[in-house]
Amino acid sequence: MRLPLSEMAAATGVDFYDEPGPLDSAQGILLDVRNGVFICVGGLGSTNRIGVYARFKSCGDTSALLGALKQNPVMKKMYVVWKAEVTPQTALWSFSKPLGFKNEDFAAATAAFTQTITQFVAPFELSKCERCNNAVQEMVLANGCPMSMCPECLSKTEEENEIQRKHYESGSSKQAKAFVYGLAAALVGGSVVGLAAYLDNDKWGNFHPTFRIGLTILLAFLVVFVVKRSVSRINRVTCVLASVLTAIGRIIGDILAYGMVIGKNQQIPFNTELLGWTAVHVLRLKWNFSPLVFVFDGLIVLAAAELCWVSRPKSAVSFRKYPIPRPF
Ligand SMILES: [Zn+2]
Repeated sequence: MRLPLSEMAAATGVDFYDEPGPLDSAQGILLDVRNGVFICVGGLGSTNRIGVYARFKSCGDTSALLGALKQNPVMKKMYVVWKAEVTPQTALWSFSKPLGFKNEDFAAATAAFTQTITQFVAPFELSKCERCNNAVQEMVLANGCPMSMCPECLSKTEEENEIQRKHYESGSSKQAKAFVYGLAAALVGGSVVGLAAYLDNDKWGNFHPTFRIGLTILLAFLVVFVVKRSVSRINRVTCVLASVLTAIGRIIGDILAYGMVIGKNQQIPFNTELLGWTAVHVLRLKWNFSPLVFVFDGLIVLAAAELCWVSRPKSAVSFRKYPIPRPF
């Protein structure tokens, strides 16, 4: 289901841009500047929850602004259940799109939102760069965030980011240390996971598949966290390492859990011989136990590498320039 963004643009009298903006909106955003306050409207991420976002120079009393937004009769009249977050430089009002959504009502509520905000904040002087006060003709979306920044500050920021990125990429990568610490995490985490899995089995052999899968997810997070902390710089090898260690931890856990279950059910002593037999047959045991858990655990092990990769520091800033929407 799509939000009627072009109709909303027409009703509110603002421009539509096919950009994710500060809300990471998959359907694009409406972008406006009113009284020195940047206003963005769009879906929150890929959801149909509507976000109305404002960015201003400063707000001395955020709780007073929040209170005023919550009291506003025009906003309140339309949407009873909604959420607002206010920081010293931003305000976000979000709500689920009501069934009887009317563009005119939305336009009135957005105007009320903007008007309330202007009473509590210091606006930007849009003809000046936010950093150095040089004259600016355009506004930019910096990683989706609307701001006025001059070309010099823009290229300076790009250079700084490039330096930061190079600094990270040229840093040492301590794979051996990551392996040792990660292995310890996998062994300890895997054992705990195995014990928890054993306790999840009742005497009739029933168990909770989602609990088992949840345990593997926790194990993956633990391994990635420890590897990330000890490696200094994450590269492709680190990501493969995260997957391998997660798999090791999960297999250790399975050997322990199946060993204990078999020992209990067959009333044979839980010793190295039993553990050795379980280790040899662990994959077959796991498949026979639950193909569903087998498949999900495999996917989580693969996902650990991806999780590791996306936890690299994000130094990239993308800039998009726009003409300032209207006279100010
Ligand atoms: Zn500047």
